[in-house]
Amino acid sequence: MDNRQNIRPDDEQRKERGRIRKLEEGCPEGNELGRKIRDHWGVLLQRTEVLIIGGGITGAGIARDLACRGAEVVLVESSDFSNGATGRCHGMLHSGARYAVNDPRSAAECAAENAILKRIAGFCIEDTGGLFVGLKNDDTDYADQFLSSCKKTGVAAKEITIREALNREPMLSKEILSAFEVPDASVDPFLLTLGNIESARKANGIALNYHCVKRFEIAGESIDKVIVENLRNKSIETYKPEIVVNASGAWANEIASLANLSIRMTLDKGSMVVINGRLTNGLINRLRRPSNGDIVVPSCSSSIIGTTSVHVDSPFENKATEEEVDFLICEAARMVPDILKSRAVRAYAGIRPLCGGDQSSGREISRNFQVIDHSEQGIENFISVIGGKLTTYRLMAEKVSDIVAAKLGISGSCRTAIDPLSPTVERKNDPTIAPSFSSLIGRKTQLLSNEIIRRCTGELRGMEVVCSCEQVLRGELVYWSHHQDVKELSDLMRRTRAGMGYCQGGLCIFGLLSSMIDEPNRDPIELVARFIKEREKGIEPVLFRGQLKEEFFKDHLFNGVYHLNAYSGEDHEEDFGS
Ligand SMILES: Cc1cc2nc3c(=O)[nH]c(=O)nc-3n(C[C@H](O)[C@H](O)[C@H](O)COP(=O)(O)OP(=O)(O)OC[C@H]3O[C@@H](n4cnc5c(N)ncnc54)[C@H](O)[C@@H]3O)c2cc1C
Repeated sequence: MDNRQNIRPDDEQRKERGRIRKLEEGCPEGNELGRKIRDHWGVLLQRTEVLIIGGGITGAGIARDLACRGAEVVLVESSDFSNGATGRCHGMLHSGARYAVNDPRSAAECAAENAILKRIAGFCIEDTGGLFVGLKNDDTDYADQFLSSCKKTGVAAKEITIREALNREPMLSKEILSAFEVPDASVDPFLLTLGNIESARKANGIALNYHCVKRFEIAGESIDKVIVENLRNKSIETYKPEIVVNASGAWANEIASLANLSIRMTLDKGSMVVINGRLTNGLINRLRRPSNGDIVVPSCSSSIIGTTSVHVDSPFENKATEEEVDFLICEAARMVPDILKSRAVRAYAGIRPLCGGDQSSGREISRNFQVIDHSEQGIENFISVIGGKLTTYRLMAEKVSDIVAAKLGISGSCRTAIDPLSPTVERKNDPTIAPSFSSLIGRKTQLLSNEIIRRCTGELRGMEVVCSCEQVLRGELVYWSHHQDVKELSDLMRRTRAGMGYCQGGLCIFGLLSSMIDEPNRDPIELVARFIKEREKGIEPVLFRGQLKEEFFKDHLFNGVYHLNAYSGEDHEEDFGS
């Protein structure tokens, strides 16, 4: 190991090497061609210091951290970024209070990271605050432990009167018996991930979606090559990394098995329901040991109710069921009764990759994370990270990056707790764009907001609102539809929120489509058919009352008027969060 470190380039040599390579090949900054070489058989290899597998929040955070420390980084994601648990969580920036009694380490980590993320990533966080409320028959011993545990773990919790709680949250049940305020917040997981990806790219990192890792070639005690399928053109690419980081969440064991290793982990499904409209100002939690149906999160134009905990055997067992939807609605309505009168517009589920796995219930397993250096199991250049929370992703990325940096001999330290994720962009005052839209776009993608605003004001009909539920402008859609990362209508949706609101894309789908059809090799009918098929999966479990009527209407529109059922659409094994 010492010998290996001796031959590592130091930071200056690394910078110089990158600069020379770019000059020799005439590559612009961050151009991936600058890192390609041929092996002695003439096969084109992409050389990199670090290959990160997984484009959820953990992989994106690691890419940002390492790229900012000066490492050469390539991240590969088999679907779109945030396809896994990241895009299927509640979007709750935990204060730590939920874990204070049972899982103090997670609570303390959440408390510290909550404060950091509010500072560095304010553009995608709504600092709504949260309440924990006790109901009749809830265990009063728990309430007693709650405050003292919060204090011990650094979670800022304070008891408030019932009157104060009801003033703050008029939709709360009048039956609540106690209330505590905590600094929970609502975070947009898609934007947080995108912010990390863009920041990594600005630091010369490469991030590729629709690139699926297929196998490893092992030489001696290390992974020599990683074989990746480019799903955009079905070609095979070969990477020659010095270190491989497995940040593939629920798929971590599958990736480890490519190196003949296994990881002790438990897969645990959690389901959620999206409710039409925001029913509360802040997050509402049930004051009891973490259980099912405890959480209501206001999220953009909707409210998200969560969650459940069910052991599953595969990361693909991610469908919410009708029974889960019924249970979640009834349980959450004990805290916010108007949920019963509201329309459930969608259900979805995510898989937690929990560390360890002896316990019978997923609720008993800690939300801690674990970083595994597989050199102890005989593979020198392979690191996996599992568990944790969206809220603690930055810390997880820091711990992984410290190990990688030490192996590579990089001396630069982590700056992600200090440097804003997205530097405040000075938005030009444009009289043709309303300040409210300008700040909405800025909130959505701070890093790119000026470029998007240019599309809104420069394009014909760029200021037209295409998705009224989420207030998305045509200019935003046009900007993203020309972006290298966007392949499907759902990719456009994740970046703009178009189609995530009340109508679930039913009314704005053709508006979304019209921004994409001038791109070559895109069949508009196939795009629409795939989008509808994908959206339908989350709608099946909520087909009752208002949503059933809406689906009849959409079915008539799409199949009766446009005859889209004549086109099957490619089977697209994914459905997305809210
Ligand atoms: C139901 C539920 C609710 C939650 N709610 C919250 C919450 O409110 N707040 C909070 O802080 N945390 C929450 N969490 C936890 C949080 O969602 C996760 O900790 C976090 O999103 C994990 O991110 P990740 O990047 O590690 O994994 P993932 O987001 O799952 O990313 C892994 C990625 O690896 C990719 N991948 C897999 N195989 C390959 C391959 N062969 N090649 C390339 N890429 C591959 C996948 O496509 C995937 O995108 C919740 C989790 C669940 C399940």
